[in-house]
Amino acid sequence: MRCRQCREKAVIFMPAHRLALCKDHYPPWFRKQVQRAIDRFRMLRRGERVLVAVSGGKDSGALWHALHHLGYETEGLYMHLGIRVEGYSDQSYEAVRRLAEQLNRPLHVVDFREELGMGIDEVRGVTNRPPCSACGLSKRYHMNQAARRLGFSVIATGHNLDDEAVTLLNNVLAWNTEFMVRQAPVLPEEEGFVRKVKPLIFLEEKQTTVYALVEGVPFERDECPFSVGSTNLVLKDVLYRLEAHSPGTKRRFVEGFFHWREQWLAEALRTKPDLRACTVCGYPTTGEVCAYCRLREQIQRRRTVHAVSHPAG
Ligand code: SF4
Ligand code: ZN
Ligand code: ZN
Repeated sequence: MRCRQCREKAVIFMPAHRLALCKDHYPPWFRKQVQRAIDRFRMLRRGERVLVAVSGGKDSGALWHALHHLGYETEGLYMHLGIRVEGYSDQSYEAVRRLAEQLNRPLHVVDFREELGMGIDEVRGVTNRPPCSACGLSKRYHMNQAARRLGFSVIATGHNLDDEAVTLLNNVLAWNTEFMVRQAPVLPEEEGFVRKVKPLIFLEEKQTTVYALVEGVPFERDECPFSVGSTNLVLKDVLYRLEAHSPGTKRRFVEGFFHWREQWLAEALRTKPDLRACTVCGYPTTGEVCAYCRLREQIQRRRTVHAVSHPAG
């Protein structure tokens, strides 16, 4: 297949766009799509400092690289989940560290072993929460708190079109309007919450992978060991097959949701939960103590019981 612009060998063919591009013409096209999403949803203001949540994977790596080359003032935030299985967290950290070096931008690190007292892979042993639930909760919490501490008004995350389509399908299958309310390209700033944006929202996973490969973005190729066997992977496969059969399906699905979201969810959007500051840490919550502080307390309590019943020496 040949590049539409110069007839050189194409590195990617995108059936939904009926477009093939070479290694020189693809990266600018990709960055243009990122800029378009930013402009369309007014995600970022020129001159605004952006904190990019980077996991070591291809999507967030491609996002940081693209934003940097589009001229945004970016800094990275890596959450070291402390997952030792297959050396996952250390390897991801190494990829992020190399990217920060390559871009010559600051990288901030939140270490879960320090914050929670253990890695996400050990949480299951002491609480009833599955690792992904504890992980999602802790990541959301620390992302917000780190942004506030570091003086950022916006956090960019690497969610791509496939992620959005999977989340939407999951929410639709369960008719979970509570989660749908929080699914948007931009989550505006609210009391205690920093604005969150998803500039890769209309780019497919294949597109971010090719961008990362062509631009030499370092990334960890192995997926998190806890993602194996998840429902999301099954839904991803279903959507992949639908897309192969009818290119553009994922985009129509997600675009349609954003188009009708306000009308469909009018009632749910109107009834916002009553938020107050967590009595332990100040994070916005509906109860007395936020879910993260409850998780941390549960972990600390179990560890103390464990230490007393198995005294050292
Ligand atoms: Fe966290 Fe689960 Fe994702 Fe792994 S798969 S990074 S444990 S949410
Ligand atoms: Zn070309
Ligand atoms: Zn709290």
